[in-house]
Amino acid sequence: MGLMYRSTRGGESNVPASMAIIKGLACDGGLFVPHKIPKMNKSLEDLSGLTYKELAYEVMSLFFTDFTKDELTYCIEHAYDKKFDTDAIAPLVKKGDAYYLELFHGATIAFKDMALSILPYLMKVSAKKQQIDNDIVILTATSGDTGKAALAGFADVEGIKIIVFYPKDGVSPIQKHQMVTQKGDNTYVVGIEGNFDDAQNGVKEIFSNEALAETMNRQGYQFSSANSINIGRLIPQVVYYFYAYCNMLKHGDITKGETINMVVPTGNFGNILAAYYAKNMGLPIHQLICASNDNKVLYDFMQTGVYNKKRDFILTISPSMDILISSNLERLLYNLADGDHQKIRELMTALSQEGEYIISDAMRSGLDDFYGEYASMDETYDAIKDVFHTTHYLMDSHTAVGHAVYKKYKTETKDSHKTVIVSTASPYKFTRSVMKAIDKRHDQETDFDLIHKMHELTGVPIPKAIQEILDAEVRHTRICDKNKMQETVKDILGLN
Ligand SMILES: *Cc1c(COP(=O)(O)O)cnc(C)c1O
Repeated sequence: MGLMYRSTRGGESNVPASMAIIKGLACDGGLFVPHKIPKMNKSLEDLSGLTYKELAYEVMSLFFTDFTKDELTYCIEHAYDKKFDTDAIAPLVKKGDAYYLELFHGATIAFKDMALSILPYLMKVSAKKQQIDNDIVILTATSGDTGKAALAGFADVEGIKIIVFYPKDGVSPIQKHQMVTQKGDNTYVVGIEGNFDDAQNGVKEIFSNEALAETMNRQGYQFSSANSINIGRLIPQVVYYFYAYCNMLKHGDITKGETINMVVPTGNFGNILAAYYAKNMGLPIHQLICASNDNKVLYDFMQTGVYNKKRDFILTISPSMDILISSNLERLLYNLADGDHQKIRELMTALSQEGEYIISDAMRSGLDDFYGEYASMDETYDAIKDVFHTTHYLMDSHTAVGHAVYKKYKTETKDSHKTVIVSTASPYKFTRSVMKAIDKRHDQETDFDLIHKMHELTGVPIPKAIQEILDAEVRHTRICDKNKMQETVKDILGLN
């Protein structure tokens, strides 16, 4: 029998991958996890000769065992194609004392593309396997990044429509322009008069409206979510950790069996959890270095064993890491507790009712795989400036948190293992913060002007994804009140 999935909270088990992908979240509110993390069944030397797509097949086929070879290959071929501006898909660049794993060569020049390029195809195939005839409607609220990455991934995928709600005045001008110029007849982008929380609450209400679900079903539709807790987003992220290691092995940067560190700029704990899965599959990783910004819930958790979300939410220059509830941590807790779902349910209840939980010493000992640190905004600006001046490598403000944390780690531990810093966004995605770090003269200019200024100053090529949107036509002008989101969805789908 193939690999099955169960809920971290015990309410479901023996769920095939395709079902877990369609459902997103388990019925009991838990997250789907594999019954057992599979071991890599090929040698890393053998894997070193593979392309990204071939390696993606080797890793994902171990997790999605109910997909046929043709089905999985179809998904991979459509995901990692010309949307990426390099055949390497995830290039590894050595600069100074670190290797940068660049996960920003996809459609929206940030790391969410790695998973959101493939999720739509995994969903389409899963729906077919589960004999779902309805069209799937993906509903997403976004504070900027996820919305565009989901739109780009789902655009023109047959049998799926995607509706994205964003706070009309709550995203950056570039983020907004990226979304409203989105092509694809199945894409719908709606600005709401309200903030991100309003958008998110509106989406949650629509999801839990049973009468609406019935109407939808009658007319051949059902909702699904592209949320980062979907197992169909987590597993594709395991691939690039193998890819980075194999790349170093192939080029003689490391020898067989040598362990390396991975530094991961972290928010929702999805990316670093994928690295933890890779380690459990047998990838020789020494330390998983969890880099946080000023919202340092995870750092505190790793120091003390107490997860406490009762604190001020700090707006930083690494907004995609501004998170107080790291949803994917629940999957790690499940492993630390040896699959004790009763325990997980207790912890999650404590988190939602008291805003905190504490883990046992036994669970804490499993945290040895991780090293948690954080970087302040000043340290982040300094990292961008220093790395640019010493190596001419330009980091974005999320990757820079990783670098600043790596520096602290080295000072504290004197560890000399080779280290990969996961680079989660192109500097062109966070132009204002990056320019502020390297050249303070440009305060008055628009975000669009700064793109050209940054290019002049650094010589770093402007990515295709940015060039394309600069003169793309606006296709989405719909605006709605925060209380009218449900009507808007009905209107878009032609429901009555
Ligand atoms: C989402 C995101 C992160 C955080 O990743 P998690 O999987 O949520 O920990 C870091 N950097 C960028 C640029 C992101 O978009």
